[in-house]
Amino acid sequence: MEKKQFQAESKRLLEMMINSIYTQREIFLRELISNSSDAIDKIYYKALTDDSLVFDKDNYYIRITADKDNRTLTIRDTGIGMTKEELENNLGVIAKSGSLAFKKENEAKDGHNIIGQFGVGFYSAFMVADLITVTSRALGSDTAYRWESSGADGYTIEPAEKAEVGTEIVLHIKPNTEDDSYDEFLEEYRLKAIVKKYSDFIRYPIKMDVSSRRLKEGTENEYEDVKEEQHVNSMVPIWRKNKNELTVEDYEKFYHEKHYGFDKPLKHIHVSADGSVVYQAILFIPESMPFDYYSKEYEKGLELYANGVLIMNKCADLLPDHFSFVKGMVDSESLSLNISREMLQHDRQLKLIAKNIASKIKSSLQSMLKDERENYEKFYKAFGRQLKFGVYNDYGINKDQLQDLLMFNSSKEKKLVTLDEYVSRMPEDQKYIYYASGESMERIDKLPQTEIVTDKGYEILYFTDDIDEFAIKILTSYKEKEFRSVSSGDLGIDAEENKDDDAADKSDNKDLFDYMSSQLAGKVSSVKASKRLKKHPVCLSTEGDVTIEMEKILNAMPN
Ligand code: ADP
Ligand code: MG
Repeated sequence: MEKKQFQAESKRLLEMMINSIYTQREIFLRELISNSSDAIDKIYYKALTDDSLVFDKDNYYIRITADKDNRTLTIRDTGIGMTKEELENNLGVIAKSGSLAFKKENEAKDGHNIIGQFGVGFYSAFMVADLITVTSRALGSDTAYRWESSGADGYTIEPAEKAEVGTEIVLHIKPNTEDDSYDEFLEEYRLKAIVKKYSDFIRYPIKMDVSSRRLKEGTENEYEDVKEEQHVNSMVPIWRKNKNELTVEDYEKFYHEKHYGFDKPLKHIHVSADGSVVYQAILFIPESMPFDYYSKEYEKGLELYANGVLIMNKCADLLPDHFSFVKGMVDSESLSLNISREMLQHDRQLKLIAKNIASKIKSSLQSMLKDERENYEKFYKAFGRQLKFGVYNDYGINKDQLQDLLMFNSSKEKKLVTLDEYVSRMPEDQKYIYYASGESMERIDKLPQTEIVTDKGYEILYFTDDIDEFAIKILTSYKEKEFRSVSSGDLGIDAEENKDDDAADKSDNKDLFDYMSSQLAGKVSSVKASKRLKKHPVCLSTEGDVTIEMEKILNAMPN
């Protein structure tokens, strides 16, 4: 029999698993159960879209059997199974998402942390097993195959016998070492507790043979061990449960179980809509930015279920770009199962759901801003840029949805403020919302142009992100107050000022200004006297709409 090698990357992960001293190694069971559940989802989905197949719910389940004598733990499912090629491709190579996460986390921390926070799927079983045998028969195939591996030195695949379609995974649980015991993974009560903890909402029955000691029939004092099948999970998916029955921890558990992120979500949104469109959704605002967030690799989207069956992992149409950081899932009875990707884009129900979801996200962010300021600022530091892009990209279509969510640092307290806060504390005589662009707050404070504005007691918004000014140009105003750059020609601070400038131009300084103009020819369009300056002898200002900072960015853009 030929022995095949794992991919280099898989091998590294495997070694990590094998040598793991990780305390949360119990999550291997969650990973295997979720794979089994996915496999049943697949067969269910097939049956619903293919008339030649019938899906009788009673025939689909996951069974866990512990055998203390042989030190094996078996997880069997009646899912779609794997062909020989699939065994090879799916178990010989780390799933792409998993490997990305692995790479990133591995750079930052020591490897062990990633296992608990972000499942690495099938491989996690090597934390507790030193030999894994997977026997699988794929739907539509007469032959089964057996994949076997004891870890680092590769795996084998050979034909095998299996009466039913599905997959059986036998874990040979590691022997105990001096300071480490693996016995708990053969204890029924412990296994039951692990299933309850992580996999309670799995939609298919998770069955376990649980033994108990009973009085032997016909005797009075003889006992016997009997195995009795128990149904361990409650099967109600979390999104179908009543919000009042759920704790923050339940949602966080779901977030991690679903691999939405490594972090703790800042907020969850549980929607149960039964108006014009019926759906349930659980959405999360993550705490930190995924490492690939601003790269091409990042894919936005929500998991989409049609009546409890997963039909798409990342449905992009459900999220507008400006909320692309939101994670979560949507389940709707109003969607047809055998809908194709192309059809989904035009589906009216889906459009309604998407619209509904966008406004839920918005109002939830707004209430976070109002009631959980600290969390909101945390969120804004991670994803505020995306909101500003949203304002800019859609040419104001989403202005109303986004403008109240924006924040900028301000000169008043050097803290983030909303536009609403800015406008509501403007002195009565202040005409505009002032802003200044620059690399940092410190740099901006040194700009001569800011003096006159701050001296008047007006607040200045610091635009330190290159998108800031572009976004604000799209907004043009907030609550009828226009935005105005401190370096613009007309600050609207003192109407007299400009007249004075002109007068000074023409009088005694004429020779000086003519000389300066000729020396700076082609670099500036005119040289004028100004009353704006206090401590500084000179400053640059612009006449048109485009400020100096914007010009820098525009010039740096590839055309
Ligand atoms: P992921 O579930 O994130 O894709 P895993 O490492 O958990 O990564 O599993 C890898 C792949 O192996 C799965 O995507 C699936 O195609 C296949 N697989 C694993 N377990 C089963 C199973 N019980 N039945 C069918 N396919 C499975
Ligand atoms: Mg998996």
